[in-house]
Amino acid sequence: MSALVLDGRKISDQIRDELRPRIDALVQLGHVPGLAVVLVGENPASQIYVRNKVKASQDLGIKSFQFTPPSSISTEELLSLIQSLNSNPEVDGILVQMPLPPQIDAQKILLAVDPTKDADGFHPLNVGNLVANRPAPRSCTPAGILELLKRNRIAIQGRHAVVVGRSDIVGKPMAFLLLNESATVTICHSRTVDLPAECRRADILVAALGRAAFITRDFIKPGAVVVDVGINRVTDPIVVAQLFGHDQSRLAAFSKNGSVVVGDVDPRAMAEVSSAYTPVPGGVGPLTIAMLMANTVTLAEQHCGSGTPG
Ligand code: NDP
Repeated sequence: MSALVLDGRKISDQIRDELRPRIDALVQLGHVPGLAVVLVGENPASQIYVRNKVKASQDLGIKSFQFTPPSSISTEELLSLIQSLNSNPEVDGILVQMPLPPQIDAQKILLAVDPTKDADGFHPLNVGNLVANRPAPRSCTPAGILELLKRNRIAIQGRHAVVVGRSDIVGKPMAFLLLNESATVTICHSRTVDLPAECRRADILVAALGRAAFITRDFIKPGAVVVDVGINRVTDPIVVAQLFGHDQSRLAAFSKNGSVVVGDVDPRAMAEVSSAYTPVPGGVGPLTIAMLMANTVTLAEQHCGSGTPG
């Protein structure tokens, strides 16, 4: 039987459609939800992410406030920008695009964001709320993955989930979200001994390590659900031929663009061995922004006293 493709675009559209009436209700109350995005410097990848986030906000009728200080900004100057956003009643959510330049104390900046405006769920108070399984904004990518699993009726309770990667943005919050859903969770990282054996124990395998097609066939238990978080750009024609030799459309895209995007899992192995999987692109990626929008609307509802916490 062929594997179920977990379509992130479809679920992302559903999430956005569900937000529209909630945004309308806020506007009726006289409050347009607002998201402030702070992008320091001119990192081209960050500029694309921020552009997509601003566009998604505008499409939904969320007011977006963009700040683009130069990369020479000091920690103190950035702190004072954050303070002004914290006290601006038009701003419900604040997002500081990472990475920040090396002279900036990123921890200090994350701590300065008002936890009730923490659209990314990165503030340590909200990380604590996640660990305690209390309502609070959650990190967008893992929260989107949970939505994707639930809306595709993938059972989580009692199943063994293996998360490869322990970053604060993806791996750790993903592991806690799955634990809160009563999965039995293993977290793997670069020091894990015998990673393939750990992965083969997974009923649900989440790959978030940032290594192109690193997870191969022998890491995947037949019938497992595989979530591929990785976004890696591959330019080597030999690697592209190895990964996509069977896929004429991807080979054509490579000839045209000189690169292809590949996840952390070998795409062919994932499609052949799993029972369900997220394609790259079109799986996890579209959900991150949808969940950012959802977090912003929830925070706006809380600021208006019209929503439930979380
Ligand atoms: P990080 O680089 O912050 O973390 C990578 C993690 O993977 C680390 O914990 C690291 O271990 C672990 N790791 C690296 N190499 C290995 C290895 N050989 N074996 C086992 N573990 C390893 O990455 P992120 O969490 O930020 O992102 C992960 C991937 O997800 C990237 O490809 C990124 O582009 C993608 N991403 C996609 C998003 C989306 O919207 N789809 C959003 C965010 C990220 P250690 O801690 O020991 O160093």
